[in-house]
Amino acid sequence: MDHDIAIQSMARERYLLEEMNEEERSDYEQHFFSCEECKSGLTVASDFFDKARQVVCDRPLLSASEGRPFSRLLRICRSFFKRRRC
Ligand SMILES: [Zn+2]
Repeated sequence: MDHDIAIQSMARERYLLEEMNEEERSDYEQHFFSCEECKSGLTVASDFFDKARQVVCDRPLLSASEGRPFSRLLRICRSFFKRRRC
């Protein structure tokens, strides 16, 4: 995979969200092992993704009276991470 294509196709984000097919995944992996910019960007994005998962999945849900909109958002985010098997 070419660097410009990796950037334009949002390969990093699609890789982390497991939205690539096997061929795309393999192409991107071959690219970022030889591209310092993509390797660095993937590390930062991966750390962010892990922190977001911890915040979302480890936080207790609030009762309805404490904050219904926020609790609903937490449930949606947890469902997202559960679907991604994170
Ligand atoms: Zn690159």
